Amino acid sequence: MSSSQSAPFARTAVIGVVGAGTMGVGVAQSFAEAGHPVTVVDPSDEALGDGECRLRQGLRAARLLRRPAPPAPMAEVAARVRWEQKPAQLGDAALVVECGPERIPVKEQILAEVDRVCGAHAVIASCTSAIPVATLAAGTGRPDRVIGTHFMNPAHLKDAVEVIRGPRTSDATLETVVTLLEGCGKRAHVVGDAPGFVSNRVLMPMVNDAAARVQEGTADAETVDTIFTDCFGHAMGPLRTADLIGLDTVLDSLLVLRETTGDARYEPCALLRDLVARGHRGRKSGRGFHVYETR
Ligand code: NAD
Repeated sequence: MSSSQSAPFARTAVIGVVGAGTMGVGVAQSFAEAGHPVTVVDPSDEALGDGECRLRQGLRAARLLRRPAPPAPMAEVAARVRWEQKPAQLGDAALVVECGPERIPVKEQILAEVDRVCGAHAVIASCTSAIPVATLAAGTGRPDRVIGTHFMNPAHLKDAVEVIRGPRTSDATLETVVTLLEGCGKRAHVVGDAPGFVSNRVLMPMVNDAAARVQEGTADAETVDTIFTDCFGHAMGPLRTADLIGLDTVLDSLLVLRETTGDARYEPCALLRDLVARGHRGRKSGRGFHVYETR
């Protein structure tokens, strides 16, 4: 690896995050807790304000749930994160993690902008749930420095990341990203490039099938999930998992899988479409397949 590419290993390396939603804030917290200055960019004022609140909630949760608890005081970690509206603020980032909506044209537009404003050696990672890295890299002038980092939700509490190596991702880019993730205490599981990679190629049709069983009246959502927790011993059933992800993101991921594979099994079922249309987006809106008391 060249000396110009060893800089990102430093704790002081600036990390950019695009999108202050569910994943963007968790990713920002993960890097800030590891000591990095982080710049979060989102065009929505509301998302930025909400993101700052959720970062504080996440920092409190990490101190309650994680053992050993993070050593740095909460205020010190929160002060490492800057909240900005314009991608131009990402010019000094060594790594930018894109956490925008799961739509191909939106992500292409974000990546083109990030590519334009970032330094030549910066690595661009996407937190996409399903879009192939090759598709995202093609619209940038640095396909060797584009990679997939599929963080799990909640990103600041999960210890592992599915890392997707695109056909043109370089060895140096992969090494940089794996090292940065390890610095955050996260294990990287590297997989090849394909729609939905491993995780969501398997999970999304399962969620869709589970929703279809509710739609057809075979069982209610509670019973479907209990079959998976009580009979199979899973930590969480597929419909509660979908509520945690966000039903809008699940719907978008299925649409991406339908488009990129051409396979009709990814066609989102009517119940899922209907819940999203009615604003029932899962935990983040208080209601999805299940009802939640608080956000
Ligand atoms: P979200 O809807 O919570 O957040 C998306 C954010 O992107 C919003 O704050 C929105 O204001 C912002 N945004 C919209 N247009 C933008 C633009 N042009 N530039 C910058 N920001 C923009 O979504 P999320 O759940 O955080 O998902 C983000 C990404 O992570 C998606 O690709 C999703 O598939 C993926 N992902 C989600 C989960 C999950 O469990 N939610 C898990 C892994 C990966």
